[in-house]
Amino acid sequence: MTGKVYKSTGSWYSVKTTLGKTYNCRIKGKFRLKDIKSTNPIAVGDVVDFDLETNNDEVSGVINNIHDRKNYIVRKSVNLSKQTHIIAANIDQVFLLITFNNPPTFTSFIDRFLVTAEAYGIDTILLFNKIDTYNEEELLEIKYLAHMYRTIGYQCLGISAKTGKNIDAVKSVMKEKVSMFAGHSGVGKSTLVNSLQPGLDLKTKEISTQHMQGQHTTTFAEMFDLDFGAKIIDTPGIKGFGVVDMEPEEIGDYFPEFFALKHLCKFNNCLHVEEPKCAVKAALDKDEIFHSRYRSYLQILQGDEDNYRADNWEN
Ligand code: GDP
Ligand code: ZN
Repeated sequence: MTGKVYKSTGSWYSVKTTLGKTYNCRIKGKFRLKDIKSTNPIAVGDVVDFDLETNNDEVSGVINNIHDRKNYIVRKSVNLSKQTHIIAANIDQVFLLITFNNPPTFTSFIDRFLVTAEAYGIDTILLFNKIDTYNEEELLEIKYLAHMYRTIGYQCLGISAKTGKNIDAVKSVMKEKVSMFAGHSGVGKSTLVNSLQPGLDLKTKEISTQHMQGQHTTTFAEMFDLDFGAKIIDTPGIKGFGVVDMEPEEIGDYFPEFFALKHLCKFNNCLHVEEPKCAVKAALDKDEIFHSRYRSYLQILQGDEDNYRADNWEN
């Protein structure tokens, strides 16, 4: 049998088949880890093969294979083993919620997020939430930001989780896909999920304000089926992805508008900083690349983590 992992406790996995039946599954003996060292061999979102077994009239499953992952997101454990924990796998897209104020979301944060998502191979859709609260000037700023990110190739929507504005558009993007929600605390993730499907509350808040706070113990993600044919992955205690390690030469590849010009740079390992005949710098000088994007790029290149630490996506 084959199914998708919806939930895991560390030793047991809830696996749902395409026919909609859920089985409690476990791993027998030592399960061969796939390509990376992680504390958990199987994560929410994994597609697994399993055999059924019966014990005292109870039917359960034994997982014997994991299908190749399209992508997966990890968190590094803080202990010395430097092992990673796979938070979730096979994510189609992440919605990044952005608010202009209450709380403010800075472009440095957005760009850092986008780079990480690109590195993971996950599509990002930008949701400018709380548009019911902005004055004209703020709306203009939001429109400019949306214009900028659309130009680069990211889908952007102005929404109000509270009034329901554009929630149908969000739903139609979510259909048939596995989605996640990210963004600062207070941007409206729980409100949005609740307006997508009343009664389904994110667990983020609950857990992070209790004893789990600050601890990097096992916090497991969970996948939910929404009744309009979408899946979401809820990640308790985590507001986003965390940060992946990248080589300096790699970072520019995750800025799609830089990547598109890279082949025109004189040096193929160009960092787009001081090098002669750099196509990215030339485009910047002609205002063909957005300056705030280039600023974010330099910050990431310089490893200026402090700008992002406050976000940490786990507050
Ligand atoms: P989370 O921390 O990202 O889950 O944010 P919440 O969903 O808890 O929202 C934080 C606050 O913002 C709550 O008081 C919500 O009622 C409010 N909020 C969320 N979305 C909107 C919106 O679209 N418009 C307005 N006016 N308030 C919103
Ligand atoms: Zn260059």
